[in-house]
Amino acid sequence: MSNAIPDRPALQRAFDHALAYLEDLGTAPVAPRATLEALRGALGRPLGARPLAAPQVIDDLVADVAGGLHGSQGGRFFGWVIGGGVPAAIGADWLTSVWDQNACLHASGPAAAVAEEVAGAWLKDLFDLPAEASFAFVTGCQMAHVTCLAAARHAVLRDRGWDVERRGLAGGPPIRVLANADRHGSVDVALRILGLGVDALRPLALDADGRVSPEVLRAALAEGDSPTIVILQAGELNCAAFDPFGDLVPIAKAAGAWVHVDGAFGLWAKASPTRRALAKGVELADSWSTDGHKYLNVPYDSGLAFVRDAEAHRAAMTIATSYLPAGGGVARDPIDWNPELSRRARGFPVYAALRQLGRSGLADLVDRTCDHAQALIDGVGALEGAEKISGSSLNQGLVRFLAAGPGASEADHDRRTDAVIAAINASGEALFGGVTWRGRRCMRVSVSNWRTDADDVARAVVAVHAAMVATS
Ligand SMILES: *Cc1c(COP(=O)(O)O)cnc(C)c1O
Repeated sequence: MSNAIPDRPALQRAFDHALAYLEDLGTAPVAPRATLEALRGALGRPLGARPLAAPQVIDDLVADVAGGLHGSQGGRFFGWVIGGGVPAAIGADWLTSVWDQNACLHASGPAAAVAEEVAGAWLKDLFDLPAEASFAFVTGCQMAHVTCLAAARHAVLRDRGWDVERRGLAGGPPIRVLANADRHGSVDVALRILGLGVDALRPLALDADGRVSPEVLRAALAEGDSPTIVILQAGELNCAAFDPFGDLVPIAKAAGAWVHVDGAFGLWAKASPTRRALAKGVELADSWSTDGHKYLNVPYDSGLAFVRDAEAHRAAMTIATSYLPAGGGVARDPIDWNPELSRRARGFPVYAALRQLGRSGLADLVDRTCDHAQALIDGVGALEGAEKISGSSLNQGLVRFLAAGPGASEADHDRRTDAVIAAINASGEALFGGVTWRGRRCMRVSVSNWRTDADDVARAVVAVHAAMVATS
């Protein structure tokens, strides 16, 4: 008797392609080279009338995407905030697809539900969050905001005697949202989705270090007494600024506000003994959003929401139906905490990444990426004609490139900066992104990948220098 399965040839091909891809990361161009037309030409095949052999579909897919993939799994990708995948997380993610559990209920995916329960508890411990906090494994920080702010919406209206889940927002007390002026755009999207609207936003002005000060928060709170959500930030995208939570959260709480923290990557500072002071007091807040697919280096998609007031969280998310068996109060049903019903068992790769790294591995990942970011910013900033704009307390920073000549204007520097970024990316040696920050074009440096080493940093600085020479 044979246990041959029809899946083997296609899965074996996919496995071989995957390893070949990883083995080529050191030499392959980091930025995609294929044009839009080329990709449409390759992938845009007519839908076949008849089935194809699965291994051929896999081979064709690999051939057709050639040149259309970012080398973000490798060590010289410094664009946006994009992590790679540690081996245990990639492997667990493959298995998650093969196991194909529906992590909606304990009953529909018993091991998936328990892996999330365990990993959620580990994460609360790593981040110093209250043990009683509830959590949800969602698609990204965007949906973590939606989840956390739905809980916030519930709580601040409950406190005014308004049941938003039953009655909706219309006719209820208007909610105001006081948010760090440099907040990520995903906060605004969450407010739109939740029906709070971006007009509810009052941006909180920042000090020279990009932080909300106690005076600014106090003054904003004093401007009204409607139900209030305060949104602070642990790790701003361009200078990695952290709000002074230890000062701000007690002020907001004294005014009866809910405090939510966007810690997409910055919350992970808590996992490093040498960096955790950056996020001091963050644990005092009411809800926290972060990502697994950035700093923890698990494959997409992986976001994490934590809420101190578990009842508010559950009230905002739970679904009671007769056809779904309830966990009976013993098992943890993800559906009580997640915005989705049927969903991928995305807790497995998070669980696996945390086990592979352990506390010291995670601290080392944070410290290493911070040190490499600093070395990259300093190395590029020291090049003649380059300028360091913001250093890095964590793993993000900015540099810019100056146009030659005494008469060069800000606009000339902006153009030069974009030209150098384009030249580096075209070289295939490294990838950086551009940003307009405080009115000036800058190159963002983000080191979020576990693979980045000192060699990658040195190679990237050489590539930046070569691009400066080529465009001068
Ligand atoms: C990336 C990021 C987000 C959005 O996260 P997604 O995982 O892309 O949804 C929100 N806030 C900050 C600070 C980020 O860096």
